[in-house]
Amino acid sequence: MTLIETKNIVKEYGDGIVTRALCGVSLKIEKGEFVAIMGPSGCGKSTLMHILGFLDRPTFGQYLFEGEDFAKFSDDELAEIRNEKIGFVFQSYNLLPRTSVFDNVKLPLFYSEKMQKSDWLAKEAISAVGLTARIDHIPGQLSGGEQQRVAIARALVNNPSLILADEPTGNLDSKGGQQIMEILDELNGKGHTIVVVTHESETARFAKRILKMKDGCIIGDEKVNQRRKAGDGILK
Ligand code: ADP
Ligand code: MG
Repeated sequence: MTLIETKNIVKEYGDGIVTRALCGVSLKIEKGEFVAIMGPSGCGKSTLMHILGFLDRPTFGQYLFEGEDFAKFSDDELAEIRNEKIGFVFQSYNLLPRTSVFDNVKLPLFYSEKMQKSDWLAKEAISAVGLTARIDHIPGQLSGGEQQRVAIARALVNNPSLILADEPTGNLDSKGGQQIMEILDELNGKGHTIVVVTHESETARFAKRILKMKDGCIIGDEKVNQRRKAGDGILK
């Protein structure tokens, strides 16, 4: 089943001097894929992620998510869809600093119908990233890698159709980065669709498909056959 389809998406910023951040991107991602997006700084990776995650809208072109075009939806409606269907992981973790791991992870469920089950769901998600022992800690008491695992648990708690991770290992050392990629790999094994932006080829090797971008365009789309598993020492 196709989860994501973009048709000729163009994104322009500014109205005087216009920056064209996406040049007409056409892309299909099936449910259950694990895709890495690579390319130099400024090539449009984050812009594409924002559009895929309903954080922004294309200037031209069409975006279908689960076969549906949400272009006519209001920003508030899109925010609801985002909360329900998309889990975001950012380079900088974006956790609430004075709030426990448990409450950070529960946050996306706050206004949802799953509110009643939120304690249980949060514990499940925290366990899935191996942080049960840290559940009452606040972010400042955790390493960067652990904080990013909390962010993944938060992204996961709503059982989203899609997990988008924009340079999730960018602030981590190689061991922390490897753990994050192993967790994403495990989640993909459980059926989650994952799109991860990275500019480290060692990180991208965890994905099953690598999209290469340059100057706002996709210039490469390659299936990775020889999957290198955790323990191969690729991130040492
Ligand atoms: P990447 O994530 O690959 O580094 P971005 O998607 O962040 O690239 O940026 C693509 C291009 O769009 C860059 O030239 C960047 O300067 C420009 N850009 C990104 N966001 C904005 C914005 N909010 N306003 C103006 N220009 C932007
Ligand atoms: Mg970026």
